[in-house]
Amino acid sequence: MSLVCNYKELTKEINVACERAGRDPSELTLIAVTKYVTIEQTREVFDLGIKDLGENRVNVALDKIPFIEAATWHFIGPLQSRKVKDIVNDIDYFHALDRLKVAKEMNKRLNKPLDCFVQVNVSGETSKGGITPDALFDFIDALKPFEHIRVVGLMTMAPHIDDQDKIRAVFRQLRELRDKVMACGFNHAPCQFLSMGMSQDFTLAILEGATHLRIGSILVNPEG
Ligand SMILES: *Cc1c(COP(=O)(O)O)cnc(C)c1O
Repeated sequence: MSLVCNYKELTKEINVACERAGRDPSELTLIAVTKYVTIEQTREVFDLGIKDLGENRVNVALDKIPFIEAATWHFIGPLQSRKVKDIVNDIDYFHALDRLKVAKEMNKRLNKPLDCFVQVNVSGETSKGGITPDALFDFIDALKPFEHIRVVGLMTMAPHIDDQDKIRAVFRQLRELRDKVMACGFNHAPCQFLSMGMSQDFTLAILEGATHLRIGSILVNPEG
């Protein structure tokens, strides 16, 4: 399948899910995760009209960002403290904030505020990053002194399983946590967004209120 066909099919499925959920598709930001493809193929995705692009490796992101400067760049992978300074002023969103040490380094290196998602490990899988739901409020509280960090939402990854109810429960829990953080009315953490939903589970994420979908393989498969 070509990129154009993939995009058409995906748009259709997103619209169907929005209809089921009684939501307006314009509430959703589709982030094309381009980590699988070359700079040239990434450019094609952008030229197709997908303005939000996501990468999870610092070196690859640094290669691509200058080449497609007009894109809105989402860094979606974990970031090591020592690499923070290389990239933090080149991205528009960071989706995987889960360590105070990294937050501190980001705050030191940033020369403007950065919109961040706090990653939450809702499913409890040890292989996944993110802080536990129990630690979320203390973590967000501890971010208050970092004047350049704005918590605009929460992010999670659902487990790779077939059980749709379990996947949906993970997304629902993230939404409930988001609602609680939002209700706190923190100035530094408006926390209105939900970054959840990937190729295999975006429909369920939309049904549970996702605002930012991170979609890679079904859109930009390197073979396609
Ligand atoms: C790779 C990746 C995605 C996209 O996954 P697909 O299953 O290819 O859609 C989304 N989020 C993160 C954090 C990723 O690393």
